[in-house]
Amino acid sequence: MEIVVIGGNAAGLSAASAIRRIHHDWQIDVYEKDQYISFGSCGIPYYVSETVENLHSLITLTPEIVEKKRKIPVHLMNEVIDVDFNSKTLTILDKNTKSQYNRSYKILIIATGAHATSSPELNLEHERIFFVHNLSHAEKLRTFLKTPNHKIQSVAIIGAGYIGLEMLEAYKAQGINDITIIGPRLVFRSQSQEYLLKELKSHEIKAILGKRVSQLEGLSKDRIKIYLDDHSSIETDLLQISIGVSPATDIFMNKGLHMLSNGAILTDEYMKTNISDVYAAGDCIASYHQILKQHVYYPLAPAANKQGRLAGSIIAGKEVSPYPGIVGTSIFKVLDLYCARTGISLEQAVEMGFDAESILIENNEIAHYMGTKKMSVFLVFDPKSHLLLGAEITAPTALGAKKIDTLATALSAKMKIEDVQSLDLAYAPPFAPVWDPILVAANIASKKLAK
Ligand SMILES: Cc1cc2nc3c(=O)[nH]c(=O)nc-3n(C[C@H](O)[C@H](O)[C@H](O)COP(=O)(O)OP(=O)(O)OC[C@H]3O[C@@H](n4cnc5c(N)ncnc54)[C@H](O)[C@@H]3O)c2cc1C
Repeated sequence: MEIVVIGGNAAGLSAASAIRRIHHDWQIDVYEKDQYISFGSCGIPYYVSETVENLHSLITLTPEIVEKKRKIPVHLMNEVIDVDFNSKTLTILDKNTKSQYNRSYKILIIATGAHATSSPELNLEHERIFFVHNLSHAEKLRTFLKTPNHKIQSVAIIGAGYIGLEMLEAYKAQGINDITIIGPRLVFRSQSQEYLLKELKSHEIKAILGKRVSQLEGLSKDRIKIYLDDHSSIETDLLQISIGVSPATDIFMNKGLHMLSNGAILTDEYMKTNISDVYAAGDCIASYHQILKQHVYYPLAPAANKQGRLAGSIIAGKEVSPYPGIVGTSIFKVLDLYCARTGISLEQAVEMGFDAESILIENNEIAHYMGTKKMSVFLVFDPKSHLLLGAEITAPTALGAKKIDTLATALSAKMKIEDVQSLDLAYAPPFAPVWDPILVAANIASKKLAK
């Protein structure tokens, strides 16, 4: 069997390794267009902040280990630039030699991930514009920030999603105090946003929300001007663009592969695409959302790892359960605030036709005599069926934010508010109040249902 994997990170290597665990003699090759494999992009903000000192700490497996221990050849700096699904042939560009060659496959696994999105109004060639999507970006940015004669005193971030927000801490840690974040809105769609805004304010971060960037101009080699759609403008010493990610699937366009309109590949629950012998996993695919009941683009690491492993197991002939999809869980740290969400927002619930209700509570994160810090829990639920539909948390520590996992589990198990109320959650003073904030929120939701 001859298997080709495109992409050497979470999804691609999970797939290749799952096959190797079962078939020791199958030929499995991984093609990777960059110089790194098996890297944790999630650690990039903490590398830029220097919490993580060495870039290589973000790497789990080197090509040498993958080749030696797993017997999987990794072709670094080899980019797949075209595919012919009929003849099962790939065209590959060897970036080392700048030569092209063809490669056939019996089974193809597409794990090309995503790339940072840009847009025409942000197109400006300037050495002080940065993206933060891969290790090369991270290295370039940190080196630039650490170069003394660059004298960066201000930073603007376009995009107030979780990557933009996580990077605030990194710039602060690099001694930059004049920071502006610009976006149509922050990640949260509810009152939880107030906690986030308060956090930004307490760190003197300027947030420009509800406006779009209309143009960029390089004023000099050290200065960039950002024009907004209300005709205002700001200037900055350094600009980060984080307006989201898009599936890296350009080479598969118009070849009969089923995709969402943004290019995210559609698969079945065994990661099979509609093209025979072609599987796909990770940030390049759309995931089935169990609450929205449709495929959505929600690219995150846990799904990429699971989907990759599942694709590999299926190809290897192992009996596995189908992939159930996601419920939309994510967690991120914004300066000193720990944030998390799962399920759908009130807005989405209403769009889906639910007559949805919501509640927000503030509660001590741990027993009051251990400290008085508050966390917030926001719940969205359906008053007809009493089903939980979504949740958001903000908390002073990771302990509070990680409670989102209880609510994600409740969503997967299709629990009603009453089911959440009766959960047997752990208690001891350093961990939670005797009435865990999740139970308090469910009690308040239940009272609202009873009205
Ligand atoms: C700054 C940042 C922070 C993040 N933080 C979190 C977090 O906290 N939690 C979380 O869950 N997720 C986080 N993510 C998302 C997470 O990193 C991704 O979901 C995960 O890396 C997806 O893995 P993947 O293998 O599908 O894709 P990728 O990691 O994108 O890997 C795809 C690989 O394919 C290669 N490739 C692409 N096209 C080709 C081609 N044509 N030929 C050869 N090789 C190709 C790419 O070079 C890349 O190495 C973060 C991402 C970023 C950028």
